[in-house]
Amino acid sequence: MIHLDKFIRDIPNFPKEGIRFKDITPLLKDPRAVKEALTQLLELLGNHTIDKVVGIESRGFFFGMLIAQELGAGFVPMRKPGKLPYTTFSEKYELEYGFDALEIHEDAIANGERVLLHDDVLATGGTAKVACNLIEKLGGEIVQCNFLMELSFLNGIEKLQGYEVKSVLKY
Ligand code: IMP
Repeated sequence: MIHLDKFIRDIPNFPKEGIRFKDITPLLKDPRAVKEALTQLLELLGNHTIDKVVGIESRGFFFGMLIAQELGAGFVPMRKPGKLPYTTFSEKYELEYGFDALEIHEDAIANGERVLLHDDVLATGGTAKVACNLIEKLGGEIVQCNFLMELSFLNGIEKLQGYEVKSVLKY
């Protein structure tokens, strides 16, 4: 039995003073841990059918792509400003540590497609909420938002009311 929490490293005061950063790189470098995490993420989804998996830059890309492959779904990168080459939809948001914006290609999701949103960490929920707004702007139906980790004490789940939210690990 692989305990995934053993592969998550706490980094104090990163990226700034007072933030305790959950680092997934120890998990990523262990193929058995990656396989177990992927299995558990797929279990969270159950029997839902998914057309597109949206992964949030950048740590949402790692498992987002793997999940999409397993499901036979397409993968869509949701990126930071100025990274996507084609015409984008964009929305600003407030982070746990600063401000940013997310962008998605205007043709990434077709109207009515069933979407799984994935990221590594749910913290305050600001990022995921904006991602949901953009997916819905394109006409996507959000089936589930799933995360490797949820920092429950930051109450991100409140910003995602109305969506099915699941996480492999909760802190
Ligand atoms: P939120 O918008 O506050 O929920 O922050 C979530 C976003 O910030 C995600 O895209 C995460 O990748 C990133 N993030 C926040 N806290 C952590 C952390 O402790 N470890 C890794 N990523 C984090």
